[in-house]
Amino acid sequence: MRTKEKLKQAICEAIDQRRAEIEKIGDQILKNPELGFKEVKTSRLVADTMTSLNIPHENELAITGVKGVIKGKKPGPTMALIGELDSLLVSDHPHADPETGAAHACGHNAQIAGLMGAMMGLADTGAIAELCGNIVIFAVPAEEYVEVEYRLGLLKDGKLSFLGGKPELIQQGHFDDVDLAAMIHTHGSPELKKAAVMKSCNGCIVKLIRYQGLAAHAGSSPHKGVNALNAAHIALAAIHAQRETFKDEDAIRVHPIITRGGDLVNVVPADVRMETFVRGKTNEAIMDANIKVDRALRAGAMAIGAKVEINTLPGYMPLQDDRGMQKLFIQNAQAFLGVEECTEIGHRTGSTDMGDISHIMPAVHPSMSGASGISHGKDFMISDKEMAYLAPAKALALMAVDLLYGNAETAKEIQARHKPLMTKEEYLSYQNKIFKEEIFNGETGIDCEINE
Ligand SMILES: [Zn+2]
Ligand SMILES: [Zn+2]
Repeated sequence: MRTKEKLKQAICEAIDQRRAEIEKIGDQILKNPELGFKEVKTSRLVADTMTSLNIPHENELAITGVKGVIKGKKPGPTMALIGELDSLLVSDHPHADPETGAAHACGHNAQIAGLMGAMMGLADTGAIAELCGNIVIFAVPAEEYVEVEYRLGLLKDGKLSFLGGKPELIQQGHFDDVDLAAMIHTHGSPELKKAAVMKSCNGCIVKLIRYQGLAAHAGSSPHKGVNALNAAHIALAAIHAQRETFKDEDAIRVHPIITRGGDLVNVVPADVRMETFVRGKTNEAIMDANIKVDRALRAGAMAIGAKVEINTLPGYMPLQDDRGMQKLFIQNAQAFLGVEECTEIGHRTGSTDMGDISHIMPAVHPSMSGASGISHGKDFMISDKEMAYLAPAKALALMAVDLLYGNAETAKEIQARHKPLMTKEEYLSYQNKIFKEEIFNGETGIDCEINE
C-alpha cells in the first residue's frame, strides 16, 4: 500500500501521461456543443471513454446523463465527481455549431475533460484498492437553465419533472447512493487567480409571462385594441420600481427579457411574452422578490386591461459549499499551484444547480482558471489547457483520495459534521411547491390559479 502522498503523486503522473487524450476530449466537446438535455454526442463520448477503461456505467439518466462507478473493495462512503455536459447558445462564438448556434461559452467542455482525466488517473493507478468506499464519475446534463419552453414541453410529455439536470437526477434517485459531491468550474477572471472557492451563490426561480391583448389596426383604430406590449412595458417599469426595496445583502437579481414583442407593426400587439429569473442569496429573499415581481406583472395588465399569464417554475437553490471540502480543495491546489494562486471569495450572484446538491449533502463547487473572455460571451475561450483540463482532473482525483484514503476517515468526519439544509424529500417538496400557473384578468381584476 502506497502512502497517501505517493498515491497522489502517482495519480498526477498518470494524468500527465494521458494529457493528449484529455486535451482531445476537451477539444472534441468544444467543437460539438450541445444544449441541455440534447447532449447526445457528448454523452456518447463520455460513455465510450468509460468503456475503454472498463468502468461500468449507466446511460441516458435524465435523458443524457452518464454515471460510472469505480467500486471499492471496502464498503464506505460514495464520493461523486461531477462534470456538466451542456453548452450555451451563442451563435456568433467562433466554435458555435452553425446549425443550432450552440457554443461552449461557459467552459463545460473543460469540466468533462477534467472529469475524464480524473477518472483516468484513478483507474490507471488502481487507486481504489487503497481507498475505502466508491467513486462515482457523473457527467450530468443541462446545468444552464435555457430553452424554457422546449423543456416545459418535455415536462408535459412526462420525460422530465424538473427543468434542470441535477434536480431531475435527484428526483429520479440517481444521487441516492451518493454521500459527497464535487465539481470544478472553469473561470476566466484574473481576480480569482488560478483556483478559487466561493462562500455561496445565488439561487433562482424562473418565470414565463404572457400578456394577452386584443389586435386592432394600429393606425386607424388602436382604441378598439388592447395593447399587450404597453402592458408589458408598464410591468417592466413596475419591476424596476421594486429595486429600491431589495436589500443589498440579499443580492437580488431580476433580469427580464421580452421574447415576443408583437407580430406586425401595423397591428396592436396582442401576444407579448417575457421571461425572467428572480435570483437571490436566500430562498426567503427570492420568494419576497417574487411576490413583488408578480404584483408588478399584474399592475401592467390592470393598467391596460390586458390578461397576464404567469408561469412560475422552480429554478436552483442557493449554493452552500461544505467548508471541510473547500479546505481539502485549497490544500491540494496550493500544493501544485502555489499558495498565492489560491483565493477565497465571498458571495457570487450567478446560480447553479450544484446549489441543489449542496442542500442535501456535503458538496463543493470551486473554480479554476484556464479561460479568457467574458463568461457566456462570444469571446469566451479555453486559453490554457494545462489549467482548464489537467489541473481540475488532478484536483478532483486528489480530493477523492483525501476523502476516501485508509478507512475514509476524512469523508466520515465531514459527513458527521455536516448538517444538510434539507432532506431529499424536503428539497423535492420545496421545489415542487414553486410550480404555479396563474391568469390575472386586468379588466375584471379576477385572478385564477391553474392546477394541472
Ligand atoms: Zn454558465
Ligand atoms: Zn457553467
